Amino acid sequence: MFTRLLSPLINLFYPHCCEICGQELPSANDLLCLHCLDSLPATGFHHYAENPVAHIFRGRMPVRYATAAYYYSQASGLQRLIHQFKYHQRQDIASWLGKQAGYMLRSGEWAAAVDCLVPVPLFPRKEKERGYNQAALLATAIGAVMCKPVLPQALQRIQHTGTQTRKSRIGRWENVKTVFKANPALLTGRHVLLIDDVVTTGATTEAAGQALLEAGASVSICCLAWATG
Ligand SMILES: [Zn+2]
Repeated sequence: MFTRLLSPLINLFYPHCCEICGQELPSANDLLCLHCLDSLPATGFHHYAENPVAHIFRGRMPVRYATAAYYYSQASGLQRLIHQFKYHQRQDIASWLGKQAGYMLRSGEWAAAVDCLVPVPLFPRKEKERGYNQAALLATAIGAVMCKPVLPQALQRIQHTGTQTRKSRIGRWENVKTVFKANPALLTGRHVLLIDDVVTTGATTEAAGQALLEAGASVSICCLAWATG
């Protein structure tokens, strides 16, 4: 709680440094130095319909396009940035990375075909504990750059799933398939870009996507990062 309240103040009074290498930055608006910015591992997947993220969902659900903006790599520092916004209250980092992902997507051919963005929701109690949903922060930033509406209220998480990391792929799917509920009034006939932070097996993203499909939407997927699992 204290960290959440104090972090904007800390950022204000301490020198502003690159979030990855620690080098001091000239502008408080920058998050990374030019070297680290250049080293972020962009995938370029949004330029190719056939890509490893699209491959995750093939045969599991009909997805129009799927992509991830970055490789979830430790060496580049991207993993550290994601940890900062998932577990250390750094909403500003989620917004910044979302903006970068938005610029990438906007350059892809299929971006214009998207009607709206929907973030993968957290269970309400978890969102309250954390204070925010990181996927919603990403979606807001991506939507702003793409000039597309974001509809966080279109999809709800109605069950808490606990930790996913130690379960098998089938176990994870069993664990998430009844977790989401989508609102057809907001979704029927629309092409939804589903936004998530990290995709590994795709089980959670798939369950969220299935709920959107059942509500009459067509679905594309954009995750911030792809972890090879
Ligand atoms: Zn740096």
